[in-house]
Amino acid sequence: MNIAVVGSGYVGLVAGACLAELGHNVILVDNDQRKLAALKNGQCPIHEEFLPELLQRHRGKRLEFTSDLGEAVRRSQAIFIAVGTPPKNDGDADLSYVESVAKGIAGAIDSYKVIVEKSTVPVYTNSWIRKVMILNGAPEELFDVASNPEFLREGEAVTDFLYPDRIVVGADCDRCALILERIYQPLVEGSYYERPDAIPGPATGSFAARLIRASTKSAELIKHASNAFLAMKISFINAVASVCEAVDADVKQVCEGIGSDSRIGQRFLYPGIGYGGSCFPKDLLAFRAVARESGCLFGLLDETVRVNEEQRIRFLRKVRKALWTLKGKRLGVLGLAFKNGTDDVRESPAIAIIKALLKEGCSITAYDPAAMERAAEEFAPEGITFASDPYEALEGADACLVLTEWEDFAALDPARMKSLLRYPIVVDGRNLFDPSAMEAAGLNYYSIGRADVVVDHRSTHKTESSLEIGKSDWDIA
Ligand code: NAD
Repeated sequence: MNIAVVGSGYVGLVAGACLAELGHNVILVDNDQRKLAALKNGQCPIHEEFLPELLQRHRGKRLEFTSDLGEAVRRSQAIFIAVGTPPKNDGDADLSYVESVAKGIAGAIDSYKVIVEKSTVPVYTNSWIRKVMILNGAPEELFDVASNPEFLREGEAVTDFLYPDRIVVGADCDRCALILERIYQPLVEGSYYERPDAIPGPATGSFAARLIRASTKSAELIKHASNAFLAMKISFINAVASVCEAVDADVKQVCEGIGSDSRIGQRFLYPGIGYGGSCFPKDLLAFRAVARESGCLFGLLDETVRVNEEQRIRFLRKVRKALWTLKGKRLGVLGLAFKNGTDDVRESPAIAIIKALLKEGCSITAYDPAAMERAAEEFAPEGITFASDPYEALEGADACLVLTEWEDFAALDPARMKSLLRYPIVVDGRNLFDPSAMEAAGLNYYSIGRADVVVDHRSTHKTESSLEIGKSDWDIA
């Protein structure tokens, strides 16, 4: 099938490359000329496993890049909209990029097309796209709008797309549903997985993706509700971790105990410095706005956001507890990306924490295997320095802070870390290290929801009143 994907970012680029991998002819559209030039030049603008291979495999054959939306529309039967939907000041999603693409499609439509919402959008967006297209001259009978939300995780985006837990097709008519079903046929029938050159995935043996047909409104809600649920699970375990700290329990043991219940499951039960990224924070706010506008009380969402914000404040307090005063301290930071496996620093808790520490007068040397270039754009040129490996970041630092859960960091040698640090202090916002290994290396170790390791005397450190969380601690504007 001939397909256009509008927006070549983390979602559009992966979706476009994967649709080409399934055998479709794909035109990727973007209005960022620098990105297009890089893509045409054979570069892969984002850090994502298997994406360079897919681009290499299909570029110039089944995968083209253009800024000409009109031409892409005329040549395609299905047009996926994968542009950004960032939050506005009131938390509602900014749908102006989606609207501008809808207008562009309306101006070019010349035969029946399916317009597919791939971006994460609030319920009713499909009706708005329809209205905007008609207002801009698109004949009603020449298009349908479907919702096909994307559930990929950055860092595992290609395998998530090709080996999905489910494909949601939100369509209010069979004609457009059938087109989407045909697009995903190789995954749903399983023929893709039999190919010798298939990208290897998590599934073993025969695999067939599950396709769920829903109304467009239900599909839009499925995406918001899924992200809100996952964010809630993270905030839940972070709140449990705080209780563990207060009563001297170990959150790792608690997670094992509750996660073994098949109704709960182990995944997303990792306490830390809170969720971030370009999706959870904004999708939660947008879903909350949808609930409010429709007159539904959904306080659980407010509480999820509150716990997430508090988690960063609590981490900052741990750094204070370990170092006393912060002004003039030099910190070696491991991790900048909002999670491991990606170079994405949008809404990264690591970036927010570093900004707060800079404001306190700390100096920062940071290392991240993938995100240093993007992180550099977040700080003034003299803001922070970057190291070329994790050990270099720790050289002469007053403490090591772990802010992203890269596996490479977990493999660091605690004895070498100690020998490089000026003070033997590690504050781990991702629970990457085993406290007993840190203790054996002579490191003071502070993590989330577990007892502090203080090498000269074991301490269970209850909250000290002088270190109470204050909102002013977190004024990073
Ligand atoms: P992104 O910012 O990485 O990419 C958006 C792209 O759209 C950019 O390349 C931008 O130049 C392009 N663009 C904007 N306006 C355009 C226009 N008028 N014409 C052509 N191109 C245009 O964003 P993303 O992370 O890929 O997210 C896209 C959508 O997918 C969002 O709604 C997001 O919530 C959703 N989503 C993201 C993820 C994720 O992990 N990033 C996962 C699932 C869903």
